Amino acid sequence: MGMYDYFICDTSCPVCGNYIIEPYQTKDFERLLDSYKPGDTVCVEGPIHVYTHCRHHIDIEKFEENMFFVNNTAIWIEYEIPIIDGKIAMDQNQWKLLEVKEVDFNGLTFIPDGMTKEEVVLHYVRFNHKMKHDIEVMSVEKKKWE
Ligand SMILES: [Zn+2]
Repeated sequence: MGMYDYFICDTSCPVCGNYIIEPYQTKDFERLLDSYKPGDTVCVEGPIHVYTHCRHHIDIEKFEENMFFVNNTAIWIEYEIPIIDGKIAMDQNQWKLLEVKEVDFNGLTFIPDGMTKEEVVLHYVRFNHKMKHDIEVMSVEKKKWE
């Protein structure tokens, strides 16, 4: 029942220049929440499309109790990446930046008691960072078992 896979790579935002924290996603593989990275050998001909967001502005308002309403202004970033000799191209000069556009996200999030607004924003950003780290750890461990 997968929806997409992750694509883990180091890039910076074409608009603000900041390091992209959120993992890229792609629907071009098995969509089993696996992780792929540049240089991986894959069974598709390509090119593949990967996309993510750079969060530019996070506004958090208390909704009720520990629920907060989060309003994000973000930049949608999408790359087209060629498959060369069966491998995902590692050289980012071969990647084509397909789309860069501003998008808004709104949603509710759960925040522990006693945090200031600044801590809430940090918590939110760290959560995203931790998620990326966990995915990397999971994919390393998975490789060990293979
Ligand atoms: Zn940015």
